[in-house]
Amino acid sequence: MDSFEELAVVRAEALAALEETENIAALRDWEKAYLGRKGKVTLQIRAIGKLPPAQRPAFGKEVNQVKQELAVLYAEAEKSLKRAEIARRLAASAVDVTLPGRPAISGHLHLTTQTLRQIYAIFAQLGFEVYESPDVELESYNFDLLNIPAYHPARDMWDTFWVDDKRLLRTHTSPGQIRVMRERTPEPIRVILPGKCYRYEQITARSEHQFYQVEGLAVGRQVSMTDLIGTMHQFAELFYGEGRQIRVRSSYFPFTEPSIEVDTDCILCGGEGCPICKYTGWLEIAGAGMVHPVVLENGGYNPDEWSGFAFGMGVERPSMMKYGVEDIRLFYGNDLRFLRQF
Ligand SMILES: [Zn+2]
Repeated sequence: MDSFEELAVVRAEALAALEETENIAALRDWEKAYLGRKGKVTLQIRAIGKLPPAQRPAFGKEVNQVKQELAVLYAEAEKSLKRAEIARRLAASAVDVTLPGRPAISGHLHLTTQTLRQIYAIFAQLGFEVYESPDVELESYNFDLLNIPAYHPARDMWDTFWVDDKRLLRTHTSPGQIRVMRERTPEPIRVILPGKCYRYEQITARSEHQFYQVEGLAVGRQVSMTDLIGTMHQFAELFYGEGRQIRVRSSYFPFTEPSIEVDTDCILCGGEGCPICKYTGWLEIAGAGMVHPVVLENGGYNPDEWSGFAFGMGVERPSMMKYGVEDIRLFYGNDLRFLRQF
């Protein structure tokens, strides 16, 4: 075999071997085997010197052509193997757009907000609008103007968070009565005053230091106790269920005269007696009364011409009764396991 034939064999072998390479690593080995420092084609080039001088130019030209040819094929093979590799990796990490998505968790209204909105809707039917008043209140609005002067023993009914000498966190929603009266006088009024109240009190299963109240106020030329009782009865039926009975007990609040407490027959036992109603058959739903003449006057209404009724009720308490929640602290404890139930 002369050197030309040998070169043809090497070339044929190299072309066949290149067909077999399936990945980059095998391609690198192929390059080493033929074009590397000790590769078969390289050795052919080195052997030129051993040929008879007359053969050298022709063989040299031939072997260089083979080397060029293989180098070009190598570069092409490398390119296509790399492309295949990228395609493989993309296929492995591909996103399957046909898979069903994970549903987003949607929140819902807090139980207190739900109850408040229910109460708003009921009183809206009865012709009451919502009137909001501030959480930080003047001492005079929270107490003095509601007929609770500094020396009055009734001040002890409300333990207070003071902001400074004159301002406090409202202990009840009643200061809104003065605000709305001063704003609306001399027009008739029918509003509910919802909001958070704050009391410096021991936190227990039955009392929180902050809680919601809804207060109601109706002022007109001939508003009477009968209107108040009728309103309370309607509310009891709309909120606690049809056919509810109410009863009225006499009570005391500094800003109403006379004052009453309103009970409904127990929503759980219907009056038979159960732990919720403490076996009395009745549940207290509101404190109420006819607006005290002093309060009417402080609001800018002449008590000789005007009269009014007012009532106040909790918001957490009715939810507790309705859903059998035994601990008021659960409402604002931020435990989602509790909140998600409603
Ligand atoms: Zn009961």
